[in-house]
Amino acid sequence: MRIETLAVHAGHAADTATGAVTPPIHLSTTFERATDGAYPRGHTYTRTSNPNRAALEASLTALEGGVACAAFSSGSAAAMTIFQALAPGDHVLAPEDVYHGTARLLRETFVPWGLAVTFVDMTDPIAVARALRSETRLIWVETPSNPLLTITDIARVAELAHAAGARVVCDNTWATPILQRPLALSADLALHATTKYLGGHSDVLGGAVVARADDDFFARIRQLQAAGGAVPSPFDCWLVLRGIRTVPYRMRAHSENALAVARFLAEHAAVDAVHYPGLEAHAGYEVARRQMALPGGMLSFQVRGDGERAMAVAARAALFTRATSLGGPESLIEHRASIEGPQTRTPQNLLRLSIGLEHPDDLIADLARALEA
Ligand SMILES: *Cc1c(COP(=O)(O)O)cnc(C)c1O
Repeated sequence: MRIETLAVHAGHAADTATGAVTPPIHLSTTFERATDGAYPRGHTYTRTSNPNRAALEASLTALEGGVACAAFSSGSAAAMTIFQALAPGDHVLAPEDVYHGTARLLRETFVPWGLAVTFVDMTDPIAVARALRSETRLIWVETPSNPLLTITDIARVAELAHAAGARVVCDNTWATPILQRPLALSADLALHATTKYLGGHSDVLGGAVVARADDDFFARIRQLQAAGGAVPSPFDCWLVLRGIRTVPYRMRAHSENALAVARFLAEHAAVDAVHYPGLEAHAGYEVARRQMALPGGMLSFQVRGDGERAMAVAARAALFTRATSLGGPESLIEHRASIEGPQTRTPQNLLRLSIGLEHPDDLIADLARALEA
């Protein structure tokens, strides 16, 4: 089946008890045992499993073309669980421009815990190969990256990782399985902040890990999920599953709008640089064309001038909301360096845009006004 069909149907079936077409939300924390002590309906206690979570996990497994999925209460909880599934002494390679929350988790929690971490330019296979050690167990890929939209060749990194006995996880939050399928490119795990495009309405926090093989490593992730309970609530699962039903069509519109905005900004005299993998001038254009169906809804640009000038442009935007996060129907504008803090590598004159589902002409008119000196 095609992905549009999977998005509508995977994890969905009319409720056997009532015939409800839209799934009920199962708030019960506990489930009845049969007289022989068995659990014939498969659920015992909601930290371990829940019907709404099982449905969401089935949907994400189908969309990513994987074999198993574990859903979490946030994208960061999903990332944390992957690191916890490693052992002290293991070495992790992560991109130098990895999502700042993931970088902080590694630096502040998992280095003291015993992981060794090297941050590398993940877009450069030679640098990746050089950074590998005999203890390297995991390579973290995030493509497109935040906030410069760099593109990593997933298949190439997977080849290097597997030759060295390491796994590859791809943070697929920005692309979604609609635009990019890391497992088909030989990544071992795909990670999502379902908070973003999959939920799609800026109203639910969630995360997920989808696996290409139901192996020991995934069993450990599953065990940590059940033992620790960093799981999404049944209502959270219901909201994400609802969002997923329309995500194939939303991603097309986000992408189409983002390309129109990127082209407008690329021609603007008050703009120094536009970072969008759908522009031919972008360093990752060719790889993106190969591994992504469309370049997606995120872009960033550098205004001519300093950080204050960038802040002033964001302040003049009226249709764009000044806020962090991404993937909702409303367009957002964000001065990234100030949210990432003093050790940020992000240029001070950079603004990041999450392009929503408004008409692109209205978005362009708003940016044109905001960029007037
Ligand atoms: C938002 C985000 C995360 C973290 O997800 P939360 O749900 O906020 O914890 C991880 N990776 C990327 C690429 C993100 O955009």
